[in-house]
Amino acid sequence: MSSLKFSQNPHVQMLQFPEKPSKKSSPIDYWTVQDARELYGIHNWGGGFFDINEDGDVIALPGGVDTKGVSLLEVVSGLKDRGIDAPVLLRFPDILDSRLRSLYQAFSDAFEEYNYQGDYRGVYPIKVNQQQQVIEEITKYGLEHGHGLEAGSKAELLAALTYLEQPDALLVCNGYKDPEFVRLALSGQKLGIYPILVVETPREIDTILAVSEELGVRPHIGIRVKLSSKASGYWSDTGGDRSVFGLNTPQTMVAVEHLSTLGMLDCLELLHFHLGSQIPDIRDIRDSVLEACRTYVGLAREGASMKFIDLGGGLAVDYDGSQSKATSSANYSLSEYCRDVVEVIQTVMDEASLRHPTLITESGRATVAYYSVLLFNILDVSQFAHTPIELDSTKEPDTAQTNIHHLKHVVDNLTPSNLQESYNDAFYYRDQVRTLFKHGNLTLRDRSTSEALFWNIIIKIASICRTVENVPEDLVGIESKIADIYYGNFSVFQSIPDAWAIDQFFPIIPIHKNAEKPSRRAVISDITCDCDGRIDQFIQNQEITNTLQVHDWKPGDSYYLGAFLVGAYQETLGDLHNLLGDTNVVSVRFEPDGGFALTREIEGDSVSDVLSYVEYDPKNMIRIFREKAERAVRQEHISTQERKSIIATFEDGMRGYTYHEE
Ligand code: PLP
Repeated sequence: MSSLKFSQNPHVQMLQFPEKPSKKSSPIDYWTVQDARELYGIHNWGGGFFDINEDGDVIALPGGVDTKGVSLLEVVSGLKDRGIDAPVLLRFPDILDSRLRSLYQAFSDAFEEYNYQGDYRGVYPIKVNQQQQVIEEITKYGLEHGHGLEAGSKAELLAALTYLEQPDALLVCNGYKDPEFVRLALSGQKLGIYPILVVETPREIDTILAVSEELGVRPHIGIRVKLSSKASGYWSDTGGDRSVFGLNTPQTMVAVEHLSTLGMLDCLELLHFHLGSQIPDIRDIRDSVLEACRTYVGLAREGASMKFIDLGGGLAVDYDGSQSKATSSANYSLSEYCRDVVEVIQTVMDEASLRHPTLITESGRATVAYYSVLLFNILDVSQFAHTPIELDSTKEPDTAQTNIHHLKHVVDNLTPSNLQESYNDAFYYRDQVRTLFKHGNLTLRDRSTSEALFWNIIIKIASICRTVENVPEDLVGIESKIADIYYGNFSVFQSIPDAWAIDQFFPIIPIHKNAEKPSRRAVISDITCDCDGRIDQFIQNQEITNTLQVHDWKPGDSYYLGAFLVGAYQETLGDLHNLLGDTNVVSVRFEPDGGFALTREIEGDSVSDVLSYVEYDPKNMIRIFREKAERAVRQEHISTQERKSIIATFEDGMRGYTYHEE
């Protein structure tokens, strides 16, 4: 069947994968782990950090496919033994370390190739994942590379000032700045940090200069420019000359003149731009770097002491593994990104006979996306099963019931040659029955028979569609109409909000049983009881599909899925929809022998935590509930013993996890 495209989402484009060998589904009895790897494309999107072992378990790898991996299922069972339930967010500090190393190595290789004389200093934009553990680990692993931080608000600035350690640590200060912001940043400068105050609006220059004078500090100033270059992608509106941030060219010139008049032009050291996050097309990146370089040269020629060129974020993550210009992908590798930007900067600077600047990137997504995996268990399954239906043929059907007999005729006579006709008839007769029911001409039992027959037709059509070459256009995607619903113990809104808000794609696959052929097709629903709380975009056999091939589930089965590449942007954007709170978080360190250690546990929100976030007072609630129970005792609705146990249940509920507990 042809792939389903994301037709509802204007941002999402069709994926174009490289030519692939034709892969018909394996025969029922033949399935290997390699089939699972290919089905779910784990090598395409896993960045070398995830694989499936010969037992069929997904493993996380600290530093590429040659290293020993840790089975995620073993981690789950280790957590269970310690009383830590799913859903759980696993963080892999070693993966973070590895990403930082790769970033520095890729720039160092590009510098060598182009004989680039400048330095590379990355900064991590705190907004991408502000959790304390992330900042602590970025600054720890970043120490040997001189990795800095980017702060866009006073709270982020305080976090940066606390955790930056190395002398001359770069601290790029973006965002709107009031005098307090500037005072904090310049206080950091007195302590040996290297803050660069990036001017986002023309008025900020006066604030920066006033506070600098007050503190007796010469500030390091940057200018964020609006480029005319624009990129495709979800976040393209944050860049380009219609972006809300930064100075346009006339404003930039006014700023230069202002600084020059005050004898402060030597403080202008950095040019910053940000094209947007997740830029899938390398050509857009090259274009914008070229334009930024010309602006940099212009500023240097105006007399500014230019030292740094800051390319902002945008380095994309290949979430769907298609290596394409699709919004969830990237048509370039990390090393291609580095080579391309270095080549452009070197060429322009050499033409202008300027020293090669220190190159800064604010790569957030590409640094932390691989770092976290959300694991959740399946709680229940709802299936569309074929319901055998026999009609009483001895009785002459009345006019109303004739429609039901027509539906039965359609299901009995369905063949590959009348798929479309049967599909049309199914809708026609079912709708006739619904109308008759509304007018009181059919019983509830008749309506139930008609709906069951209708679904029998759809199920049969879908199964024939799987076997034929040319599927009528109307029937493409019919599979998703009869897909099972697998209810996952998590909240889309809390743990992967971008999947709901912007249709961001995240790879989701079973973390075990992959040595067995998956026999069901499902969409994944969360437990928020919101119809938007579902996932129906998956990558399989290099195509985007609306259903995920999963293993059969029976009540009592433990079945776990993982949502991968969720380390960037998801944690703090998540919300308390249905008052489902933060999940448990556990840090997993790889041991050289292939084992693992759980190094940090952060307990997820309890019910009382989330209630207090929305202004309830849990203690007061318990008091009110106790009084209610006491009234019930007085009115002899319950005994005192029952009161005791009801109150204990209420108090346990307050202390409990907001998700389904075993
Ligand atoms: N820098 C700035 C100014 C940003 O606004 C952002 C996010 O949009 C980033 C850096 C991080 O971008 P990315 O996560 O694509 O690296």
